[in-house]
Amino acid sequence: MNRPSGSAPGSLAAKDVRRARVVVVGAGAIGLAVALQLRRAGVDGVVVVDRNASVGMGSTSRANGGVRAQFTTSVNIAFSQFTIEKLRQLHETASAQVGFQAVGYLFLTGTDAGEIALRRSRELQRSLGLDVRWLSAREVIDIAPFIRVDGLSAATFCADDGIIDPHGVASALWTACRRLETTFLLDTEVLEVTGGSPARVRTSSGDIETEFVVNAAGPFAHELAARAGIDLPVVSRRRNLACTEAVAGFPAAIPMCVDNDTGVLIRREGAGFLIGFSDPADPPSMETAFDPAFLDAVAARIGNRFPFLENAPISPRKCWAGLYPETPDHHAIIDSTPGAPWFIQCVGFGGHGIMHSFAAGQAVTELITDGRCTSFDIHPLRLSRFSEPGAVVETAVL
Ligand SMILES: Cc1cc2nc3c(=O)[nH]c(=O)nc-3n(C[C@H](O)[C@H](O)[C@H](O)COP(=O)(O)OP(=O)(O)OC[C@H]3O[C@@H](n4cnc5c(N)ncnc54)[C@H](O)[C@@H]3O)c2cc1C
Repeated sequence: MNRPSGSAPGSLAAKDVRRARVVVVGAGAIGLAVALQLRRAGVDGVVVVDRNASVGMGSTSRANGGVRAQFTTSVNIAFSQFTIEKLRQLHETASAQVGFQAVGYLFLTGTDAGEIALRRSRELQRSLGLDVRWLSAREVIDIAPFIRVDGLSAATFCADDGIIDPHGVASALWTACRRLETTFLLDTEVLEVTGGSPARVRTSSGDIETEFVVNAAGPFAHELAARAGIDLPVVSRRRNLACTEAVAGFPAAIPMCVDNDTGVLIRREGAGFLIGFSDPADPPSMETAFDPAFLDAVAARIGNRFPFLENAPISPRKCWAGLYPETPDHHAIIDSTPGAPWFIQCVGFGGHGIMHSFAAGQAVTELITDGRCTSFDIHPLRLSRFSEPGAVVETAVL
């Protein structure tokens, strides 16, 4: 890309940017990982544009921080395996900024249908090399003595799953990108993208001509695509999280514990516990204020497996919400757009965008450099699937 001599890498003034090879719209975990993998592959002229004043201020900053490979489809498992390894490596090279802790994920069910589902997904996970254990109630108590195991019919545990610090991930990715001379245009809104050779990105700070545009706009992916006349099947839903005040007498490190029968999950957060629950009946929304009704929904469910938290005081300072951009089958879309091959969609990651970020970045990089992705089979992520029969749905959606 053209830039006047003397400009510091990563801090170009907006007026200096006239041409790029790839414009990545969105500096969340997805856009940052896309930019990093592009630069690692030697792609020059990568410009990341975000309307916020810093990186990672969208859904990324609201995430729970779980990273797990216990999914139910091959592509999601492969994406997690790849990304978790890259996050581990980034943790090593970024002075532990990623905050990676391999505390494991524990899935629990007390129903026959739940047991069948866990058994089926464990078979797939193990066939793809994941070390997922099948636990008895006794073994669950050994790992997590606070869990109510009455009526438990099945549990799976993968010790390689864990938690990260979403802010740390964004910072570490940003630093790595800037080291590789990626250009960031922050405080800059993308107003319009139009095709052609080159394509043109109209921003609040001027136009950029580019070979490729990557839609990594998270919950605003639908809106961005619409600005190019493309209708993406991605809708956002509000998801809430709440932390308790300090709860004494429990280990500092516990697995992410998921009650599959109610959808409630818990993990340690400081001296308290963080509680999550995603109501599948929630309507589409762009609202990011914490919903107080979330606490009622949790109160009605948490006693099933985590009765010790039934009376735990919630910290009002530590309740927040964010948006899951979801597709109908709970898989992301990673594809060049039919009729607009310059426009690459990397969208619809729901509640698993951090744990899939590096794989998404790798897939987009290969689409740009080779015209196809060979590291993963991303056929299940193609855009055209929504108009075809036989949807394959990811069911381990938390
Ligand atoms: C409550 C909650 C819990 C979650 N828990 C987890 C978890 O445990 N593990 C996990 O892996 N994931 C989790 N997620 C999901 C995760 O946060 C995201 O999938 C991930 O951070 C990737 O986000 P993103 O980069 O796609 O979007 P974002 O982080 O939202 O980034 C998109 C960026 O695009 C920018 N943008 C949009 N439109 C424009 C425009 N027109 N011009 C300029 N900039 C634009 C926005 O400003 C934003 O910064 C959770 C999400 C929520 C809300």
